Amino acid sequence: MTDASTAPKAVLLADYQPFSHVISQVDLAFHLSPRATRVKARLALSPNPQRASGLDLRLDGEGLTLISCMVNGVAVHATPDASGLTLPAALLPDGAFVLETEVEIAPEANTALEGLYMSKGMYCTQCEAEGFRKITFYPDRPDVMAPFRVRIEAEAPVLLSNGNLVGKGEGWAEWHDPWPKPAYLFALVAGDLVAHSAPFKTASGRDVALNIWVRPGDEDRCAYAMDSLIRSMRWDEQVYGREYDLDIFNIVAVDDFNMGAMENKGLNIFNSKYVLASAKTATDDDFGRIEAIIAHEYFHNWTGNRITCRDWFQLCLKEGLTVFRDQQFTGDMRSHAVKRIEDVLMLRARQFREDQGPLAHAVRPDAYVEINNFYTATIYEKGAEVIGMLKRLVGEAGYAKALDLYFDRHDGQAATIEDWIAVFEDATGRDLAQFKRWYSEAGTPRLHVHEDWADGTYTLHFTQENPATPGQPVKGAKVIPIAVGLLNPNGDEVVETTVLEMTEGRQSFAFTGLSARPVPSILRGFSAPVVLERNVSASERAFLLAHDTDPFNKWEAGRGLAKEILAQMVTDGGKPSADWLEALVRVVMDDRLDPAFRALALRLPSDDDMAQTLFLSGYVPDPDRIYAARRRMGDALAHRLSADLPRLFNDLDVPGPYSPDAVAAGRRALRMAVLDLLSRLDGGKAAEALSQSADNMTEEVGALSCLLSVGAGDAALARFKARWSDNGNVMDKWFALQIGLAPPAKAAALTESLTSDPGFAWRNPNRFRSVIGALSANHAGFHNASGAGYRLVADWLLKLDPLNPQTAARMSSAFETWRRYDADRKGMVQAELQRILATPNLSRDMTEMAQRMLTD
Ligand SMILES: [Zn+2]
Repeated sequence: MTDASTAPKAVLLADYQPFSHVISQVDLAFHLSPRATRVKARLALSPNPQRASGLDLRLDGEGLTLISCMVNGVAVHATPDASGLTLPAALLPDGAFVLETEVEIAPEANTALEGLYMSKGMYCTQCEAEGFRKITFYPDRPDVMAPFRVRIEAEAPVLLSNGNLVGKGEGWAEWHDPWPKPAYLFALVAGDLVAHSAPFKTASGRDVALNIWVRPGDEDRCAYAMDSLIRSMRWDEQVYGREYDLDIFNIVAVDDFNMGAMENKGLNIFNSKYVLASAKTATDDDFGRIEAIIAHEYFHNWTGNRITCRDWFQLCLKEGLTVFRDQQFTGDMRSHAVKRIEDVLMLRARQFREDQGPLAHAVRPDAYVEINNFYTATIYEKGAEVIGMLKRLVGEAGYAKALDLYFDRHDGQAATIEDWIAVFEDATGRDLAQFKRWYSEAGTPRLHVHEDWADGTYTLHFTQENPATPGQPVKGAKVIPIAVGLLNPNGDEVVETTVLEMTEGRQSFAFTGLSARPVPSILRGFSAPVVLERNVSASERAFLLAHDTDPFNKWEAGRGLAKEILAQMVTDGGKPSADWLEALVRVVMDDRLDPAFRALALRLPSDDDMAQTLFLSGYVPDPDRIYAARRRMGDALAHRLSADLPRLFNDLDVPGPYSPDAVAAGRRALRMAVLDLLSRLDGGKAAEALSQSADNMTEEVGALSCLLSVGAGDAALARFKARWSDNGNVMDKWFALQIGLAPPAKAAALTESLTSDPGFAWRNPNRFRSVIGALSANHAGFHNASGAGYRLVADWLLKLDPLNPQTAARMSSAFETWRRYDADRKGMVQAELQRILATPNLSRDMTEMAQRMLTD
């Protein structure tokens, strides 16, 4: 016997072949029981005309006990191996036939939370990417699509599956999903649940019953998710012309869940933290995420479900597009400017970081060992950026035409990136061959800019650099849409936003007939996911912060200034410049600006962002110095604003009952940013008062964070725990906040002590992330010179790996930045990664991650 986990084998895009057979109908019957669930599967099969005839039938299957196997009603002898079951061609009839299998599985013993498992007595499933093979023998690949009929028998009041309900009685229910789907979209739920329901009528008049299913007692925290769902359904009709296509749409909230949520056809399953919300239990950020994730999963009904991916290399086809759509939706619901800034912050924090390290991979990778390791910021967020660039290049009308063609041409199919690009080429007549490099090449391009001014002509010279990434040493020039505007020295805009199309390694663009040398505003709206390299003086940044008409670049100017000053403070211990303080104060005090924008302007660059910036500028980042400089910067800002802070704090109070709308949330965001500065001056007095009087979670958490930052949080922490100990979603915040804000030298010890807290239910992914994940997100704490942070995180990843390899492996990316740091830290991380790799029976997931991080 060979142990598959010690010799992970790569799957290659180049090896793709259609499946040997076609499935025209799937009938499943579940008899649920925690330790011995029986699954009967009846598959109507025929040879695939796209393949040669007379092929064996190979079905995926893991951890299944085979009870019986019949072909056309006749028992056949078949012995499964570790990864599936092969029925030799000799056993199969020439044409169509029916295969019936029965297997036994134990959902209660399933700790990996893939396939059919149990969460607090409730049965639920997670099949993407390859969980269905843990339920029954099946070709578990997205290009095998079939209609499903499902019968569930169980001692539970609520029995749900995909599609429409076609029958039910005491202890059973039958569901039929008429839309052919791949197995990864299968779902089943059974348990003691209650529904928050609402009606919906589609644009063409179809009545749809909407239900959000939760545990009894949670039904009063579903209203916002329902409201978000209804708005999402309406928006997709209005903006993309896409209607819902079943009689019923169910959402179920589950406490134990590896991901955020899952778009199973007609039965979305959600991590409970992205469904349940009330003013008292959820922050404004939670409400915003719920709205975005409900929309995202709903939008998958068309981009993912009706049109799915041919194979998992095409994952960005559904994820990049659906993220792009949910970003558009949030912008329409809230503020496009604020949404764009938040998205870019996230892109840089997660995707740029990934692209610059050993885990860099293309938006469409061409090899993987474990697909679960590729649910990354590159697939999702960079995938969405690539679509944003496409839209910028072909324009609004071209994009709308291409999307209509995509839905017309590929509805009911499993498609590829080639199909996607082809609809844009066919709809707009553009040649996108060069653009496709954005899908096949990893790495963040760096765009160098310099300029000339003579005789009324202003010329921008761009050079693009496409750095090497693992496995891709050489790359070609990309198509880069560069949105540019020009301002006169008096602050007026003389050239409105114009999109320059860069297609060569070096390219120049001239603007003629100008009366004075303009100030350029380059890469407006962050028009391409690149690093812009340009020597800009502090005064020019301050000018753009004051005058730029593009809200993203206005914010970016302040951000650039803050990073430049912070970098100086880290490297030579200097003080923040008066220019920066004045420019920032002007923005913060400007009542004409959106408070949410002002709050973002006040947010200092994160420690990790600074470490990355310093590393890219040729420095070895010192986490303690970054931490100290960032604190000094905040203190300086607090002192400069000291006369205004108390008044600002009071003025920004939002009167009346709590509402999670964007305007009120923006005011609270600015108010909490002001409170953070105020706490540096008053030692937390105002924060302590708010912590005792707050009637909503945004202010309760905001006040607690301020207190923790100034080392005065003990009493508030104790109160918080006493108040919320029976609410898991809220207690995740209690763990994460104190670890995330712990001083660097104490963070690991505090985390270790909290792992002994009775509330540290580490098998629950949310709780594990709120403790171990919070430590790895505390930059100076995780990278503390003692190495205690590295050791503790590695210890816990190794403890989780045998039970839940997917979550453990994903969290191991905490180590991906190790090559940035000094030799001591590098040596310690390398030793931890080697220790992980040397652990017996390490999962395939974790093996792949550790190997990639250690490879040069
Ligand atoms: Zn998705």
